[in-house]
Amino acid sequence: MQNKFFLVVVLISLSLILALDGCKNTSYKKTISKDKISIKSSKNSIKKITASKSISEIKQNLVEYKGDIYHVFFHCLIAFPKRAGKINGDFLDSSRVTVNEFKRCLSEFYKKNYVLVDINSIFNETEENGRQIVKRAKIMLPVGKMPLVISIDDVSYSDTTKEFGMIDKIILDKNNNLKSYTQIGSKEVISDDNEVIPILEKFVANHPDFSFNNAKATLAFTGWKGILGYSINHDNKNYIKEVKSVKPILKKLKENGWSFASHSYGHRGSAKVSYNIFAEDTEKWSNEIESVTGPTKIFIYPFGEELAPNTDKYKLLLNNGFRLFCGVNMEPEWQDRGNSIHMGRVCIDGMTLKSYPEKLNPFINSFTVWDSKERGPI
Ligand SMILES: [Zn+2]
Repeated sequence: MQNKFFLVVVLISLSLILALDGCKNTSYKKTISKDKISIKSSKNSIKKITASKSISEIKQNLVEYKGDIYHVFFHCLIAFPKRAGKINGDFLDSSRVTVNEFKRCLSEFYKKNYVLVDINSIFNETEENGRQIVKRAKIMLPVGKMPLVISIDDVSYSDTTKEFGMIDKIILDKNNNLKSYTQIGSKEVISDDNEVIPILEKFVANHPDFSFNNAKATLAFTGWKGILGYSINHDNKNYIKEVKSVKPILKKLKENGWSFASHSYGHRGSAKVSYNIFAEDTEKWSNEIESVTGPTKIFIYPFGEELAPNTDKYKLLLNNGFRLFCGVNMEPEWQDRGNSIHMGRVCIDGMTLKSYPEKLNPFINSFTVWDSKERGPI
């Protein structure tokens, strides 16, 4: 019952995020104090892997992992809390975590012996009696480690989300390292310390045994506002130029172990919309986004609004190559469906940190993670 209630709260919250995302909100403060801007020089480029235990050494001690596969998700970080307005009590901020909170989560995952695995490595397609079957892969991990998939939703960085304290876009700096870029007034802020992508890159560089086979996280892209801060959606008349700009970044992300998922094109509730709208949305994602990111078998439901496997919409997604479908749940969830797999994801944000600390206990201690400096007491 409590889980159901939680799910409803999460779904309502996610709906509100999208509604707000599409609104112009002028109430947020746009002024940023200089001391909040961290500019990292190129000297701080990602360190080469300096493992306390080398990857090859770890690989010699692999054992089959038969337990639950854990999947947590975040939204883009509150990089500039002052630009995001008042944190505690503000809805958008309750649906996200701050930079400090994200870093503390990574440390907690690591301390609890989780290891990042690529979402594409946890399932495979085989042929059985002439039928294609999708099922859980045999998972081999270093002794004592538990597999963790992290996904990040809505990684678009549109004009409106910038006002909610997010960065402007992901870039490659002159040393070909992944950084964030944000324009604050006349100041350009290039940082490796205020968004998930560069922070996770650094964390793995410093803790190589947190990543198995170079895995990082999964970016769940929508399409209507572009991806990673680049307006590659065809509504933008300059989209070809934007595609050219984002391609080297996608290439670098792939090389560094990031994977990509569809989060639909227009972020509409999959079950609510008509079949025709859903089909049009799926086609647009394929034409405008997947054509740039490369194919993916992962579909992450907007608002966690799931489709029943016997529906025409689900079949359409199967025909478009999707095999692993992710919803929202507070417990590990895995259903083999023969032609596909359903997986639950646990949301970590301001609201779950505050209201459901016990549900997050398998991953983190909410009271340790909570950013009281920015949010006030929990
Ligand atoms: Zn979303």
